[in-house]
Amino acid sequence: MLTSIAGRSVIVTGASKGIGKGIARVFARNGAKVLVVSRHIDEAEAFAEALRQDGGIASGFAADVTDAGDMQMMADAAASAHGGIDILCANAGIFPQGKIEDLSAEDWDHVMATNLKGTFLPVKACLPYLKASDQPRIVITSSITGPITGFPGWTHYGASKAGQLGFMRTACIEVAKYGITVNAVLPGNILTEGLIGLGEAYQNSMAASVPLKKLGTVEDIGYAALFLASKEAAYITGQTIVVDGGQTLPESMDALNT
Ligand code: NAP
Repeated sequence: MLTSIAGRSVIVTGASKGIGKGIARVFARNGAKVLVVSRHIDEAEAFAEALRQDGGIASGFAADVTDAGDMQMMADAAASAHGGIDILCANAGIFPQGKIEDLSAEDWDHVMATNLKGTFLPVKACLPYLKASDQPRIVITSSITGPITGFPGWTHYGASKAGQLGFMRTACIEVAKYGITVNAVLPGNILTEGLIGLGEAYQNSMAASVPLKKLGTVEDIGYAALFLASKEAAYITGQTIVVDGGQTLPESMDALNT
């Protein structure tokens, strides 16, 4: 068991739904003090309350990751509520689909603003607090889509998710002198509310393309983030952990089904 998370102050952006909920839940169950962030205070606070009911320490905060002022207020709120910031999980992201011919410049900018600027801004705002921590960690939620794989309709999304890794590889060098590590988790297909809403047939067809023959859970991503945030991971920086049930590995359908 990783024992170095209890009492740590953790921010999880995009924690009112999906993967962010899984990350926040895993950290809260391991004794962290969690700030649950989304643009909607009712949803952020409802999930923070669920974590408290489960025995955790958590509070909700409304902020938009594309807004520098919001990110500053978020960092200040986490520090004053939880006594500093040790771990930032930059997880909020969007994945609207649209083929190149149908995408507008505004569609492109919206995805980049949320996924890429929305990674840079919370990191920038949290940096002064992270520098004061003795176990400072940044964990970015990227994706297999972009860094490793492609999917028609997601050029903007894939570019933003690959861009997060470019950001990470320089950021980790810049902040290494403060002992801050910066790593990324690359989820495959994860069972979120959104994916469940697409129906059982869709889930089954996605699961069939995964060697482990099932979709991941949001907690699967939470545990990878937990490891990267632990004391035990202190010497790992600028790296990625793929959590995809082996989805990116088969060379062909034969390789998958033999
Ligand atoms: P989701 O279920 O749609 O949840 C997205 C979360 O982000 C929500 O809490 C949403 O809350 C928040 N959010 C969106 N825009 C925001 C903004 N501008 N400012 C602050 N919060 C914002 O998404 P998900 O599937 O869990 O995805 C989470 C991350 O995992 C994303 O970075 C995504 O790229 C990555 N990922 C997901 C999968 C997958 O299978 N689901 C696979 C690979 C990677 P509000 O709407 O209330 O703001």
